[in-house]
This record gives sequence, structure tokens and C-alpha cells, in this order.
Amino acid sequence: MPDDSAVETANDTPPVPASAATVFVKPKRARPFFGRHPWVLDSAVQRVEGAPSAGDVVDLVTHDGRFIGRGLWNGSSRLRVRLYTFTAEQPLDDAFWDSRLTAAVDLRRQLHLDAPAGGCRLVNSEGDDLSGLIVDRYGPYLAVQATALAMAERLEPICDILERLLQPRGILLRGAERGLGKLEGLNLPDRQLRGERPEGPVFVEEHGLRFGVDLTEGQKTGYYLDQRENRQAAASYARGRRVLDMFCYSGGFGVAAAVSGKATAVLSVDSSAKAVALAKANAELNAATTMAVEQADAFDKLASLQTAGERFGMIVLDPPKFARSRASAADALRAYHRINRLAVDLLEPGGILVTCSCSGAIAREDFLVMLSGVAQRSGRMLQLLECRGAAADHPVNLHCLEGEYLKCVIARVT
Ligand code: SAH
Repeated sequence: MPDDSAVETANDTPPVPASAATVFVKPKRARPFFGRHPWVLDSAVQRVEGAPSAGDVVDLVTHDGRFIGRGLWNGSSRLRVRLYTFTAEQPLDDAFWDSRLTAAVDLRRQLHLDAPAGGCRLVNSEGDDLSGLIVDRYGPYLAVQATALAMAERLEPICDILERLLQPRGILLRGAERGLGKLEGLNLPDRQLRGERPEGPVFVEEHGLRFGVDLTEGQKTGYYLDQRENRQAAASYARGRRVLDMFCYSGGFGVAAAVSGKATAVLSVDSSAKAVALAKANAELNAATTMAVEQADAFDKLASLQTAGERFGMIVLDPPKFARSRASAADALRAYHRINRLAVDLLEPGGILVTCSCSGAIAREDFLVMLSGVAQRSGRMLQLLECRGAAADHPVNLHCLEGEYLKCVIARVT
């Protein structure tokens, strides 16, 4: 009897809707994509068969036509194609986005980040195999960032899926970081996508503390969720110490050190008036009576504290991205050196330095080498206690190491 089961299976599989175009990779340039790297730069593209519009589904093939992956096209970005599947039979239809979003939400459930009052990153772009899409949850609200044009065009079906999975009270769209948006030809104004717009701050719980998040005007999508576990880890060293929280934004490290960590006193500093107001409100919300907040430039403030002969038992440095690209990495490392040196000089013997870098262009090892330089120049010994990254709801796709950006080093300065 002829075995026709294979034929039956083939007939049961719905045909993959035709892709708008076929993108041929240059000879010898296909390897990263066989390694599942999702970014196809224009420099890797040999030619395109068809005339895809922005956001269209395209197939990526080798120069001699073998299937590699399927993705979405953006002809005006240097990042021409973002790949989402490496399975030839897999269409990029609504059911596909549904399964990817469901998997992302399931992971956060496994991480026990589904408490209704909490906040977490639900979708971390490449880290969840959803290049160009970020979704953060703050209690009952979702904040969405589309960093890829193709994702921006799919916001309606994405919102349908998120509403079905999570029943949020509202979904807001937040503009992508300036640089990123420009690269993609994206200029999305913030807007309400679904449901209610929060009136005033949204409150989220984090390790027993509460933080007010400004969803409509705050930095990023309103809060630095990536530092959640690092704030807790840092606080565990704060007991009995005087703490300086430099670049405090909404006050997370300072509040955690004051309340959970039982620091004797906390001084939180940020150059932005809005940040200072947020940090003050969060200190009050958590009855962090030992915490003071001040508006100042970090470099100036560290220098003037030095002149005044002040000393701290713990210093947190969480500066903004100093390196925007690899080209500026050397300058950035010099700035990291300067600020870390200023902090080390202010620490009393046995003090704790919590020093962070969110520059993806600075490798973890280079950051440690910079700190080693600070140890040498300052004549102090730095004992590396913890070398941390972003919280687990910011997974990194090891096919795309560019997603590894946050370093949080905890060291004892003898
Ligand atoms: N530690 C914060 C996040 C910090 S984000 C948290 O856990 O939530 C970086 C902060 O640095 C921003 O709030 C920004 O306003 C501030 N900043 C940028 N340049 C600065 C400078 N030169 N001096 C002081 N603060 C600065």
C-alpha cells in the first residue's frame, strides 16, 4: 500500500501566503542569518525580487535562492529586514504574532511577575523574538514602544492580542528613543491606543515598595524596570550606611536603600527637575524620611562633595547612556572612568560602589577594565562582589547579543 500520510500532512498545512518579495543575501554574508541573527543590514543585501512596501513580509534567501528566514521589510532603514522566523512553512500572520506574544506573557508568569499591582517588561524586542516591539506593564496599564516601522504598522492586531491576553485598563503608545526612531523613519507621537488614559501617576509595587510612574511623560516608558532586581540587591548592602544615589530619576535605588536597606541617610541627585519631583514624591509615598533629593549635575555635585570633605558608605551611579555607538565608546569609557573615580574618592574605607552602565556599545569586560583602571589610579582596592545585568523580564536573545546592554557592578572599596 502506498504511504500517502506525507501527502495528507502537506494538504492539511495551509499554504503560506506569498511573501511580497524575495531578498537575496550577498554570497558569504548569510552566516549570521543561518545563526538566527534577526537583523539584515542593507550592506548584506545583494538584490530584491519584487517591490516590497514598508512593513511587508519578505523571504530572505541565499544568493542562490535557498530559504533562510522570513521577516518584515523597511526600505528606508539601514536595517532592511527584521527576521521573525526561520521556518519556511511559518507564515507571519495574526496567529503567529499571537503565539509570540502569548509566549512572552507566559514567561513573565513563570517569573512570578504577574501580580496585578506590579510592573514588568512583557515584551523585550529581540529578547522575545519580537524585534522592534517593547511592551511594559504598569499595574493595569500597558505602555507600548514600536522601534520598528513594521511593528508600528501592526499595532492594531498587537493591541487586540494584548487586550485578549491581559485585559488592560489602557494601552499607551510611547515614542521610541529619538535615535532609534530616526533610523527607522519613524516619528510616532505618543498616543492612547486603547482604553483609558491614566490620570496622574500609576502606582506599581516593587519588592514591597510603591512607586508612582509617569506613564505619559516619564523617561523610557515611564520607569526603569530593568533595574528592579539591582535596586533590591544594592539595598541589601545599605544597612547602617550613608548612601548617595547619583542619577536617581524617580528615586528607586534611594528609596530601596532607605526603606528596605535601612540606610542611615540617603542623598539622591538628578539634574532633571521632573526627576527630582518624582523622586521626592516616591520618597514620601514610602515614608523614606531619611532620604533627601537634590537637583544637580552629577559631575559638579561629586566634586563639591569632595571639596566639602563629605564621605559615604555607599554610592550608586546609574548614569544615562554615555556611548550612543561603538564610535563613541572610547569617549564614553573616559567619562565612566571620571565619574567612578570621583565616587571611589568619596567612599569611606569598606564602602560599597554600585556602578551601572546602560551603554550597549560598551562590553561588560571593557566596563570591568575601566573599573580596574579606577582602582589603579585611585590606589584603592576594588573587590568585585556582584556583576549583574538587567532583570529576567528583559531576556537577551543570544542570537542577538546587541540586546545585552545593562551592567550593574557591585564592588567593595577598601
Ligand atoms: N537610577 C534610576 C534611573 C536613572 S536614568 C532608576 O533606578 O530609576 C539616568 C538619570 O540621569 C536620568 O534621570 C537623567 O535625568 C539623569 N542625568 C542625566 N545627566 C545627568 C547629569 N549630568 N547629572 C545628573 N543627572 C543626570
